Amino acid sequence: MRDIRHFIDGAAFDGASGRFGDVFNPNTGEVQARVQLATVSEMDRAVQAAQAAFEGWSSTNPQRRARVMFEFKRLVEANMNELAELLSSEHGKVIADSKGDIQRGLEVIEFACGIPHALKGEYTQGAGPGIDVYSMRQPLGVVAGITPFNFPGMIPMWMFGMAIAAGNTFILKPSERDPSLPVRLGELMMEAGAPKGVLNVVHGDKVAVDAILTHPDIHAVSFVGSSDIAHYVYQMGAQHGKRVQAMGGAKNHGIVLPDADMDQVIKDLTGAAYGSAGERCMALPVVVPVGQRTADELRERLVSEIPNLRVGVSTDAEAHYGPVVTQTHKDKVLGWINKGVEEGAELVVDGREFSLQGHEKGFFIGPSLFDHVKPEMESYKEEIFGPVLQIMRAASFEEALSLPSKHQYGNGVAIFTQNGRAARDFAARVNVGMVGINVPIPVPVAYHSFGGWKRSAFGDINQHGMEGLRFWTKTKTVTARWPDSELEHADSSFVIPTMA
Ligand code: NAD
Repeated sequence: MRDIRHFIDGAAFDGASGRFGDVFNPNTGEVQARVQLATVSEMDRAVQAAQAAFEGWSSTNPQRRARVMFEFKRLVEANMNELAELLSSEHGKVIADSKGDIQRGLEVIEFACGIPHALKGEYTQGAGPGIDVYSMRQPLGVVAGITPFNFPGMIPMWMFGMAIAAGNTFILKPSERDPSLPVRLGELMMEAGAPKGVLNVVHGDKVAVDAILTHPDIHAVSFVGSSDIAHYVYQMGAQHGKRVQAMGGAKNHGIVLPDADMDQVIKDLTGAAYGSAGERCMALPVVVPVGQRTADELRERLVSEIPNLRVGVSTDAEAHYGPVVTQTHKDKVLGWINKGVEEGAELVVDGREFSLQGHEKGFFIGPSLFDHVKPEMESYKEEIFGPVLQIMRAASFEEALSLPSKHQYGNGVAIFTQNGRAARDFAARVNVGMVGINVPIPVPVAYHSFGGWKRSAFGDINQHGMEGLRFWTKTKTVTARWPDSELEHADSSFVIPTMA
């Protein structure tokens, strides 16, 4: 059995915990490797390596750090096929989508290539008599990222791209379900010229996460995963004096107004609900048609479109989506479909019995569609994270607006309409962090920032863009005067200084 090792201080590191996680091939259901799960002292070993690298890296001028990011981008692009295959082989998403996963991360690296400009501080000349004020952004030190299985390329790069460019040194604790791509990214970062210890990859489970959250030399933690764990990470990290941003789960709604371009809506919905087998925090698993006519048409069109979806192995170039990540996850999704049926929702298309010929043990689930889903159903309140679309009928715009606004999650939402005024009103009033207008998956581009509301994110600073830079740096503000010692000295003052 192949072992997936840690990557510490610029080299593969053999852990000695004797604890392992299974890494599956989701297409066949077989265990293809085992990943080492770190001990507390192995995590500490990585922190020491990062600590040792910090002084040199943080004092390297930003332009040189940017050149490492440029070279890293070039290397990732040059190795794109190999990286996408590696990602796909453990996650199960199709190759084209795996490339998209890596590409969205690379776009943050592109933004990070502009770090010399982004890091420039503020300056006020003459804030008072002979007084100048300036501010600078300084890196925090050793920082960490804990990432989910569903974007093993993009989400690590959201975090370490910004953090490392800003001068921090980094510990990445990737998902133990698809850990190989993150290790390759660590290797490529060294090949790009980052000194050893700048990016370390330590695999693990709760033991490793707790070691990060309680380590006195880790100054900030970025987390993306499910909401209960995000909340735990947020509380525990804060208790230990760390800066924490913790993104959680989602249940994104797509509102369809009667005037929407239905041909486009059907294409957008099928892609956003079933792409990547629904394992996206910005998937659209709930569709809210407004008015009976819209709902009936939408349902009819979906019922005729869904059988055209091709579920296949992740290397099938024709497949729209592949297997889910593990049997445990498959069981969880099937459990939610059963629950929906029990709760009285109408299962219009049933994907539970889907089986792919020749891959009967693979973790495949056929596309499923529910109609007449109600707000009080557990299967609506919770995240399913599988290829399941729920139709929730609304009688009016106001009712449709209230559904995502009242939901416990507030990651993304989309509205489909040709009425600009309705869309504008919706975007202004909806209680959700990221809004798409005729855009089904409104993941903001890298130079804007990513973050949901309510139980989709704990903490107050978003990922990447200038928000990411703020998260990974602290501001120092200097107030300076250069008195002329030949002139009369100012008197002592016992009053708080003002510039009045
Ligand atoms: P997860 O919460 O199971 O795991 C996330 C990370 O937490 C992993 O690194 C894992 O090892 C670690 N972890 C797992 N159990 C833990 C425990 N008990 N204590 C401490 N750490 C633990 O999430 P997942 O299944 O890998 O990813 C899917 C979830 O992530 C979904 O809920 C999805 O919506 C969410 N997600 C959110 C965003 C966002 O930006 N809001 C983006 C992607 C995914």
